[in-house]
Amino acid sequence: MASDGATDGVQDAWKPSSWKSKPIKQVVEYEDQSAVSKSLAKLSSLPPIVTPTEIVKLKSSLRDAALGKAFLLQGGDCAELFSYCSDEPIDSKIKLLLQMSLVLIWGSNKPVVRIGRMAGQFAKPRSSPMEKVDGKEIPSFRGDILNGYDPTERRVDPERLVTAYFHSATTLNYIRGQLASGIADLHNPLDWGLGHVRDKNLQSKYQKIVHSISDSVRFMRTIGADTSGQLQTVDLYTSHEGLVLPYEESLTRRLRHPAGHQPTTASQDGKGWYNTSAHFLWIGDRTRQIDGGHVEYFRGIENPIGIKVGPSMKADELITLLDIVNPTKEVGKITLITRYGQDKVESMLGTHIEAVKGSGHIVVWQCDPMHGNTRSTPTGIKTRSFSSIFSELSSALKIHKEHGSFLGGMHLELTGEAVTECTGGSEGLADEDLSLNYTTYCDPRLNEKQALELAFLVAGHYRE
Ligand code: PEP
Ligand code: MN
Repeated sequence: MASDGATDGVQDAWKPSSWKSKPIKQVVEYEDQSAVSKSLAKLSSLPPIVTPTEIVKLKSSLRDAALGKAFLLQGGDCAELFSYCSDEPIDSKIKLLLQMSLVLIWGSNKPVVRIGRMAGQFAKPRSSPMEKVDGKEIPSFRGDILNGYDPTERRVDPERLVTAYFHSATTLNYIRGQLASGIADLHNPLDWGLGHVRDKNLQSKYQKIVHSISDSVRFMRTIGADTSGQLQTVDLYTSHEGLVLPYEESLTRRLRHPAGHQPTTASQDGKGWYNTSAHFLWIGDRTRQIDGGHVEYFRGIENPIGIKVGPSMKADELITLLDIVNPTKEVGKITLITRYGQDKVESMLGTHIEAVKGSGHIVVWQCDPMHGNTRSTPTGIKTRSFSSIFSELSSALKIHKEHGSFLGGMHLELTGEAVTECTGGSEGLADEDLSLNYTTYCDPRLNEKQALELAFLVAGHYRE
């Protein structure tokens, strides 16, 4: 079990369990407390899934993103299922994130930091604890770490906490293995599959970008610029929403800081509290209350963290939140993931940028153009339009520029598979097409073509 000792008296009485003394949103009520204790004891004895060295390396890359020297690409499923822990879905996601990142590097002329919403994105906050299925009220699906999607499995089951750990570890093990074995080796040709782009002008624009990327890679190989192994693999970090605090607490460990690391929290023993379940965790828009349990938990960990910033966030509330989770104003520690919606971004983002500037905090500004742009079709299918998603992204790019700031990254719900969950894009998916391959268990995701196209459009924006 993570030792329960308080941290050096620097932060007032923070411990991995101090969140328990605060009000908790999205609380989980298990029937069998002894089964929960058994699962948590097991989790506490298992090894870290990620290490302080990796976490600190990511934090230093995010510092670059905060300072405008790198771009953060974060993407993956809304709700990752245990059944996605299988080679094909993992491979296709790694390849998609790699291709998108190449396009973004080409466009922005900056290194791209890649974070998957993978290997642990198993918990979902819900607006209602119950839902109607076939005319019957049953508990809502809350993600595989808590209950099952099948209506017969909606009771929260404490054993799933341990199952989640093993699915995270297996997924990350496979990612590590594939990266070490050359899945991201740029010596191998990539299949860009642009055949679906019906608009000829657009297709030739995208082809030009692909040629330019291939030419650059060929040039680097020719002049021998790849001797450092840089073309053979890439870093891919993992992330999830830190929603289920008992799980996060049990994987929070007091570990030695990597050499040379300037820790968030001063310590006499050279150690700090690391959440070892993922490199990066974020606080959701529904659980970011200043006096709530989630903020209390997040303020004590060394990991870089994200905060979702929705339209109800007040500017002074945002600054109070930053002061709580990052009292030392460490650059790159915090990523603000803004998700206002295409209609609200104009009126909200500028105010938030100015407030943060005035506070002296330097954050990564990341745009999540998905969550403020969800709509229902007339037949009740949850979807998002490609045009609304791109509209919020372009507004964010523009507004940052107007305020002497810059967009540091984008946060997307996507999959490497050919799903039909969001409308629009070059394939021209319409509301009527959504039923063709609608397989999400939560929010609608961009398919691989739409996600790549978004990267092309953002890259184009930089090159204009
Ligand atoms: C999510 O990222 O899937 C999510 C629930 O987001 P938000 O907290 O922004 O609503
Ligand atoms: Mn979502």
